[in-house]
Amino acid sequence: MYLESLELADFRNYTEVQVALGAGCFVLAGNNAQGKSNLCEAVRLLATMRSFRASSDRELVRWGSPNHFARIRGTIHQAAGPLKLEVIISAPPLLGDLFAPEGVPLPPPPTTGGTHKTVLVNGAPRRPLDVVGLVTVVLFEPADLDLVSGSPQGRRHFMDVTLCQISRSYCKALSQLQKILTQRAALLRRIRDHEDDSRSLDYWDAQLALQAVPIIMERANLIARCTPPADEVARQLGAKGLLLNYLPSFPIATEMAAEDARAAFLARLVSLRRRELLQGVNLLGPHRDDLGFFEGPVDLGVFGSRGQQRTAALALKLAELEAMEAETGDQPILVLDDVLSELDPTRQAALLERVRQNPQVLLSTAEPDMLPREFIRAATVLSIAEGRITRQ
Ligand code: ATP
Ligand code: MG
Repeated sequence: MYLESLELADFRNYTEVQVALGAGCFVLAGNNAQGKSNLCEAVRLLATMRSFRASSDRELVRWGSPNHFARIRGTIHQAAGPLKLEVIISAPPLLGDLFAPEGVPLPPPPTTGGTHKTVLVNGAPRRPLDVVGLVTVVLFEPADLDLVSGSPQGRRHFMDVTLCQISRSYCKALSQLQKILTQRAALLRRIRDHEDDSRSLDYWDAQLALQAVPIIMERANLIARCTPPADEVARQLGAKGLLLNYLPSFPIATEMAAEDARAAFLARLVSLRRRELLQGVNLLGPHRDDLGFFEGPVDLGVFGSRGQQRTAALALKLAELEAMEAETGDQPILVLDDVLSELDPTRQAALLERVRQNPQVLLSTAEPDMLPREFIRAATVLSIAEGRITRQ
């Protein structure tokens, strides 16, 4: 699939822009702080309905925007027919905004309250959760290069973002799980402090098992599917191979029925109950999972060189692309935000060679002159400066 056009209004540093896109490679060229990542963020938001870097949707609304809302509109060409997606994020003015002198844009103080997201699919309103994955996007940004060496949270996030786009039920289970974990942790602490009865835990245990089991099963499935292509790409990049190893906090054998897995999960919760009550935290569930990367017997997260870790991260991202295509039957839009300069020439060449076959690639860089000449020649260059986009 590919984006035919993108319109932004009062999104980040864009006041009003319309870009005609289409199949092929697009180089987003511009100096620092001009709006390259903001554009990538808007494209990815159309797929996941969330920003990959804002902690609150309020951050997405242009400072000083007179109407206090941001709008992203995308027209998407896909196998199932054309699709128009529109996301409107409204953030009511804060006191700081109201008292800002005329014409002086002030960054709003951080807050999460009061924002609202409206989503329209072909003009009809839909719940954001139901729209996730209508468009699929694989984003690769500098922080992804730390996927192997970084925190387990980043690796769980990788699995969640990928699976949410390809599985509606996963996305719903994940959203439920987050609510359950919050409620259950609060209850554990209340029981510990003698403010509640431990019998009320049974209900939350059952809820937790109900959502946790399919999440663990889908994650195991994803990693199993990503392993062969990740291994292949890693070898192309000079590694001796790559094995992805899903490390769930509660392992479930592949042949196990969901019902049996739920019963086993509940039994494990019972055996953990004393510890959970003592610590007042949820000790079992997908929120404690991790993902390991091995080259032969070597755990790259622990012993890998920086280059080996980056190769593994890159291989995983390209495997994600294939896993998504296999699942949806449509190749996702690939967004590479400023990652090339972080890779050595061999990996750059391998990455560009591999991504060129993708229907649409958006690649941002502050140094377009560093790109191979043949790549630039075949691509469309969009110059980005101060939130304005010009086609070269
Ligand atoms: P770099 O090459 O450094 O990564 P970039 O082109 O990717 O730069 P962006 O991250 O897109 O830069 O940010 C462009 C500008 O947008 C920044 O100066 C940032 O401060 C500004 N900005 C971020 N949020 C808002 C907002 N809500 N309203 C107005 N401007 C914003
Ligand atoms: Mg950037």
